[in-house]
Amino acid sequence: MRVLIVEDEQPLALSLQRGLKTNGFAVDVAFDGNNGLSMAREHRYDAIVLDLMLPDVHGYQICATLRDHRDWTPILVLTAKDGELDETMGLNIGADDYLTKPFSFPVLVARLRSLLRRGAAPCPPILAAGDLRLDPASRRVWRGDQLLSLTTKEVAILEYLLRNTGRVVSKRDILEHVWDDAFDGDPNIIEVYVRYLRKKIDIAFGRCAIETVRGAGYRLAADGGVWSGRGLAR
Ligand code: CA
Repeated sequence: MRVLIVEDEQPLALSLQRGLKTNGFAVDVAFDGNNGLSMAREHRYDAIVLDLMLPDVHGYQICATLRDHRDWTPILVLTAKDGELDETMGLNIGADDYLTKPFSFPVLVARLRSLLRRGAAPCPPILAAGDLRLDPASRRVWRGDQLLSLTTKEVAILEYLLRNTGRVVSKRDILEHVWDDAFDGDPNIIEVYVRYLRKKIDIAFGRCAIETVRGAGYRLAADGGVWSGRGLAR
């Protein structure tokens, strides 16, 4: 099993390397983020041990870049303090496991072995309609190659529309699936959100994927329709 360690504290990195080698792993080490990222991209590792606080490219960035390239190599993140750990998990950066420093070496080995047993998680399906894509795991949305900046609610509404591509969904459906039970406001709030969403995913690109179906609700065009000026071109 080949493991990459990305850690800028050289004594720690080297002692981890020695220890893991003793435990039968093949181990490469990168002392900074740039090297770590290029090594991770270049070779197929069975797992990566990733420090977050690196002098150049932050561990978050490495994780996100790998996942963006649909690389699901198991990643065990090392964090410096508890607060950072909470934040990291909250950010859902796509790592598979976390250890707070200082950690015990046997625990690291045990966690690593369990990650290796699991193997790379099956890549979560990307939802798509034409060139509009949404990654449910990272909550990111693209139109073509362009990463869009959407709010949490906008992503949630779009996810619901994408999961129902080609079907008409009512405002009530959206409310039930995107808002929690506590919401008892006006369903017309959906119109406001859909307007924002349209601006970002459609109008900005001369598209009209989200159709309004009068009196019924909305429908996301299966092919992410192109606005022809007269109507939806299929
Ligand atoms: Ca560090």
